[in-house]
Amino acid sequence: GDIADLVRSRIRDVADYPKPGIVFKDITPLLADPSAFQSTVEALGSPWLGASPAVDKVVGIEARGFILAAPVALALGAGFVPVRKAGKLPSAVLSRSYALEYGEATLQVHRDAFAPGERVLVVDDVLATGGTVEATTSLIREAGAEVVGVSVLLELAFLAGRARLEGQDGFDVRALL
Ligand code: IMP
Repeated sequence: GDIADLVRSRIRDVADYPKPGIVFKDITPLLADPSAFQSTVEALGSPWLGASPAVDKVVGIEARGFILAAPVALALGAGFVPVRKAGKLPSAVLSRSYALEYGEATLQVHRDAFAPGERVLVVDDVLATGGTVEATTSLIREAGAEVVGVSVLLELAFLAGRARLEGQDGFDVRALL
C-alpha cells in the first residue's frame, strides 16, 4: 500500500555494514523526511489506537526503537518505557541475556516500570532473528505486565523472527514492511 511504498522509498540499503556480507537497513532517510516520519509513527500505532482496554505503555528498545516508540506512545495516549543495554538504567533492573551471531547481549528494564497487568506495545525498527524482541517481551512479562503487540517498521522475513515470537503467548506482530 501507500505507507509501505513510502517507507520502502526512505530506507537505504548499506552494503557490508556492520560487517562484510551484511546489508544494513538504514532508516535515517525516513526519520529525516517529516511526512514519512509522521506517517510511519501513525501506522506503527494505528492497530492499537482506540483499543479497549487501552495500551498503557509503549516500550522502545535502545537505540533506534526509542526514536519510533516515544512518538507512538504520545499518539496512543500511553506512557513510554525504555528497554536499555546493560548498565544504562539507574534504578533496580531486571535483565535478559540472549545470543547474538557472535557473543551475547543483555537488555534491562526497571523493575518498577509497569503497574501489575498493564498492557504493553513493543516498538522497534527492524525485526531480524527476533532475539531482541523475545528478550524484551520476556522482561515485560517478568515485570508483571502483559504484551499485547509488537509493531516494527521492517521485518526481515528470511530470518524468521515472527515464528520465534509466535512460540510465545498470543500477541499481534505487525510489520509495515
Ligand atoms: P534481532 O534480535 O536479530 O531480531 O535483531 C533486531 C535488532 O537488531 C533490532 O533492535 C534492530 O535495531 C537491529 N537490527 C538488525 N538488523 C538491522 C538492520 O538491517 N538495520 C537496522 N537495525 C537492525
